Amino acid sequence: MTDQRFSNVAEAERLFALQHAPGNLQRLKDSTVKDRLERIRRIERYLLDEHRMREWTEALRLDLGRSPEESKVIELLPVLVAFRHVYVNLREWVKDQPAPVPLAMAGLKAWTRCEPKGHVLIIAPWNYPLQLAVLPLMHAIAAGNAVIVKPSEVSAHASAFIKRMIADLFDEADVAVVEGDVPTTTALLAKPFHHIYFTGSPAVGKVVMRAAAEHLASVTLELGGKSPVVVHKGFDVRKAARLIAWGKCMNTGQTCIAPDFALVHADQIDAFIAACAQEITRMYDPAGKGLESSSDYGRMVDARNYQRVKGLIDDAVAKGARLAIGGGLREGDRFMAPHVLTGVTPEMAVMQEEVFGPVLPVIAYSGLEEALAVIAKLERPLSFYILSNDKRATEAIMRSTTAGTTAINELMATSSNPWQPFGGVNHSGLGKSGGRYSFRAFSNERSVQKRVWGTLAPLKPPFKPFFIRWAMRLARL
Ligand code: NAD
Repeated sequence: MTDQRFSNVAEAERLFALQHAPGNLQRLKDSTVKDRLERIRRIERYLLDEHRMREWTEALRLDLGRSPEESKVIELLPVLVAFRHVYVNLREWVKDQPAPVPLAMAGLKAWTRCEPKGHVLIIAPWNYPLQLAVLPLMHAIAAGNAVIVKPSEVSAHASAFIKRMIADLFDEADVAVVEGDVPTTTALLAKPFHHIYFTGSPAVGKVVMRAAAEHLASVTLELGGKSPVVVHKGFDVRKAARLIAWGKCMNTGQTCIAPDFALVHADQIDAFIAACAQEITRMYDPAGKGLESSSDYGRMVDARNYQRVKGLIDDAVAKGARLAIGGGLREGDRFMAPHVLTGVTPEMAVMQEEVFGPVLPVIAYSGLEEALAVIAKLERPLSFYILSNDKRATEAIMRSTTAGTTAINELMATSSNPWQPFGGVNHSGLGKSGGRYSFRAFSNERSVQKRVWGTLAPLKPPFKPFFIRWAMRLARL
């Protein structure tokens, strides 16, 4: 990377020291809900300002070839929903939460107080560069922390926009952005942050967790993986194709919750492929001018990812997979048409790593156990999709699998409800985000007990067997 903006070790050191100035954390900790909400509203106003909106949608067009419309739908809408949720609920979240006490602890009053964790580092990916920097940032502010955000250097235009926005809106002592490459991120990770919120690949997630272990910093790891979609026999294949083609093509397949591969009953494969082809045309090429001329269809983020995903197609085809849909590839502008592969087997690279591009491997199954056996061999996914009209089969699939999130007869809905926890499990992530879950991730949940009457004296030495017997009886009530 030749861009000077991306080697910023000295800047990282400066901002870390600045945010550690005496009294800084206390000032943020003492900030009122009104202060915090006002700071969050600044971000919302900035993003909605017509001129700024042109700037950030253009940045995303340059980085990901995305249309402004797609960026507004997939990047801004979730942010607006999450902001609204915080406006309505923050007052409740910051209140001390009373807790009951067991009979054996009678005389104590108990409550839990959420206090800011302190110094927070947010590391964002390139695929939804705005949303995935702004959402954790907003929740970290809501919880009263000092924050350093490190956007991805791969989405360079979005990174520059985020840097400008934060510089325009905040004092560096409260929120600062360090643009940066791997050495810059490594320098940041060596610092004793109190919490690190990382969104990215499982491989880098491990790097982050190892670095966090040095300071015993808590982490939230929002990672990825192979999210399956099971199309149960009898489910309307046109409906399945409509949902899957949309999920797979959104942001050119570069979405952490995209359906990674599909399991379709052998009897329905041909109809499913035909319906996928129709659906892709309906969405992106209704006038028959060629999909590459559609302003609604994006591009691979960079040459490395273009080559990586092309390599998955080539490897699968070389090992015997059939290219049922596809062929449109143009390296110059990183255009990659949607590809559908059939006859895919577990030893193909496309079934061993997250696809993260517009390529759908389709695996035929004859019985549900066969489909579940394919899934059981893979790491636990971030999202799991079930398309089925059969309640019992749906429940059986749910019971025999584990996933961070699940959507039934819908796709891509798994990350959008701020009332529910979003996040993976093991390889697909650690910790949860969204609404209150994000607020908690950025808060230390401090439990407090106050003696209001009584005493624990009978349970202190010298021990009296009579009192111990009574305490044990009480404990079991
Ligand atoms: P990535 O792991 O390559 O990079 C993420 C961030 O880590 C970037 O800011 C990058 O600069 C930094 N980074 C990269 N290598 C590093 C290293 N060696 N040491 C320290 N920092 C390093 O991920 P990506 O390619 O930006 O994003 C794609 C991945 O993110 C996919 O796996 C996708 O599923 C996942 N993802 C998950 C979610 C979620 O919410 N769970 C959302 C979006 C993307």
